[in-house]
Amino acid sequence: MSLFTILDQNRNVQALKNTMKNEKVASAYLFYGNEGSGKETVALEYAAMLNCETDSLEACGQCPSCKQMNNLEHENLQLVYPLKITNKKEGVKDPFSQVSNDQIGEIQEEIQKKAQNTYYKIDLTDAKSIPITFIRYIKKNIFLSSQSNGWKVVVIFDAHLMTHPAANAFLKILEEPPRRSVFILTTSKYSELLPTIKSRCQQLFFPPLKNEVISEAINGDQLSQNESNLIVNLAGGSYSDALWLLDQDIGKLKKQTIEILRTIARWDKKAVYNYVKEIAKIYKGDPRYFHQLIRSIGFWFRDAAFLKSGNTEEELIHADQSEEIKNFVENYSGFQPNKVNKTLQNCIDLLERNVYINLVLLETFFKIRKYAFKRKTK
Ligand SMILES: [Zn+2]
Repeated sequence: MSLFTILDQNRNVQALKNTMKNEKVASAYLFYGNEGSGKETVALEYAAMLNCETDSLEACGQCPSCKQMNNLEHENLQLVYPLKITNKKEGVKDPFSQVSNDQIGEIQEEIQKKAQNTYYKIDLTDAKSIPITFIRYIKKNIFLSSQSNGWKVVVIFDAHLMTHPAANAFLKILEEPPRRSVFILTTSKYSELLPTIKSRCQQLFFPPLKNEVISEAINGDQLSQNESNLIVNLAGGSYSDALWLLDQDIGKLKKQTIEILRTIARWDKKAVYNYVKEIAKIYKGDPRYFHQLIRSIGFWFRDAAFLKSGNTEEELIHADQSEEIKNFVENYSGFQPNKVNKTLQNCIDLLERNVYINLVLLETFFKIRKYAFKRKTK
């Protein structure tokens, strides 16, 4: 039994139960690994387990403490996440007085979504870092005596986004952690955390979820086999991404994948330039969607390579486009899937570094044409 639905990660859950059984609860944990693999969910579950009013090692789901945890509204639970600071005045003590009213509203909505499904990723507009005021605020709260017994649990989402001063302030807390308190840091970017923080935390690795696990979890939704197959593959081990994809128009994503490839194959210059502008707009409006579109193109070529090496059509990710993929393999047998993949990856890397988008896209299209759509000259 668990309070929240947890996909896989039994080893980590068991390890945390053992800390309670052996009375070896650490003052700081670092949960790291693939995005959407359940780090945040297991952190919240641990908070519920530690505070459940029954004697068992599990969160019963029935007691008052579990019920409050279920709504993420427990006096012993503090969540920390990146914010967009608009008021930078010195001496401010409360991070929520530094953000706009709009963001306060957005925070409430996002936390509600998180409570409904703990795999939901809190994503506030333009929030890029965890400010020092947030850490100071938490410190003040955690040293205040609380009404309930239990354990105070602070979960820091995307801990690698703590600013340098915030990370240092956090280290100071860890030097003398208040009793019966637990800090859980979660991150999918392990290398971006300060080594001094890592070394002070007990670390648990969360591997990506298996495709079968994600497939089963989204099975209840009204999806065609084709759509479900694409979502599971695009999610790449992240249930959070799968949930996000469920809200997207997958039919449209598939259509755009084909449109891009057709535009590149024909290479009518004017049409290509216009299309680059259109795709740039998609990127600016919704980078996450753009990212998945690029991945979808990557899977299309992966399918082509798959067919070429003699695999059956049923195993294709874009199985509904098997005719087109077959035609492509026949007409362009010299295509170079590895180079195409590298080109797509390079495109994503460059855009993350804020290189001029239209230029990157044009170059990407040009290279795909070179590596995939050149007929062999005899
Ligand atoms: Zn309980």
